[in-house]
Amino acid sequence: AQERFVGLRDLPAETTCGQIIELHMNAGLIADLPSIDSSGAEGVGLFRTELQFLASRSVPKRGDLARVYSRIMDAAHGKPVLFRTLDIGSDKVLPYMKRPEEPNPALGWRAIRVGLDKRGVMRMQLQALIRAAAGRPLWVMFPFVAQIEEFDQARDILNAELANEHRLGHSLPERVQVGAMIETPSIAFAPDRFFKEADFLSIGGNDLKQFFFAADRENERVRRRYDTLSTAFLEFVCQISKRAQDAGTPLSFCGEDAGRPLEALAIAACGVRKLSMRPTSIGPVKHLLRQANLDDVRAQLDAARAAGESNMRTALTQYIGPLDR
Ligand code: PEP
Ligand code: MG
Repeated sequence: AQERFVGLRDLPAETTCGQIIELHMNAGLIADLPSIDSSGAEGVGLFRTELQFLASRSVPKRGDLARVYSRIMDAAHGKPVLFRTLDIGSDKVLPYMKRPEEPNPALGWRAIRVGLDKRGVMRMQLQALIRAAAGRPLWVMFPFVAQIEEFDQARDILNAELANEHRLGHSLPERVQVGAMIETPSIAFAPDRFFKEADFLSIGGNDLKQFFFAADRENERVRRRYDTLSTAFLEFVCQISKRAQDAGTPLSFCGEDAGRPLEALAIAACGVRKLSMRPTSIGPVKHLLRQANLDDVRAQLDAARAAGESNMRTALTQYIGPLDR
């Protein structure tokens, strides 16, 4: 099925209304990187850094991590790679890290919360990233930020590490861009300063949707119960997109929904101009976007909301019906 999309590889995801949507890939291993060329991804919009920690018997060594990160940047051939700092806890538990049993791990001690409490691990990972990026740009993205103070603290730690590496005589990255994931409803309502001060933002739709609907993404009984194409969730994505736009900060969407053509279309219609997904989804998403008019989709969304409708799936399925699928 992928052959159908090969011809699209080097073409932009330009809609019929003239919007260009950037399509990036998600990755977590060096072995994923060759797909950056075969898929035509414009970069790695989410590099999940957990696997190197999960595959190790103890906390990985800084030098080993730096080598891995450097090879990943090499393999991206100068395209941007957004490294998300360690997002452990919840569904990703490290056997060698002592932690209490938690009644609600998804709401528990995870991601940046662990990083800020166990600064040694976070600092070591940041040092590895800084060293790997010597002389080239570095993108660092903090996961699961629930309030602005957490982002402030994480950025302070990163800046302190940069100053320290400089003092030690190591060459620094050419520039450093610091971003946050929007995965909790609370951060979507953070003060304007958050949206302005972040260099970039990325909606982690898997978690954001789980917390928006209060429906565990790991629980088969409830995980498909609520629809990304509900007008409620899309309204929320549109509001986040508006806040990022007003602040002039680039926003992407990197949850699984970015790789589902219909969902990707709706997210783009909300104003999100960058989507990051599994490399195999880039072809199908690009194919649909290139035939779609986002102004029409947005108008449909606004009309559905005004008419009191709660779901867009049927309307959007009809809209794309006549398109060449
Ligand atoms: C997300 O929550 O949408 C996300 C991209 O992060 P993860 O799936 O690793 O939690
Ligand atoms: Mg997440």
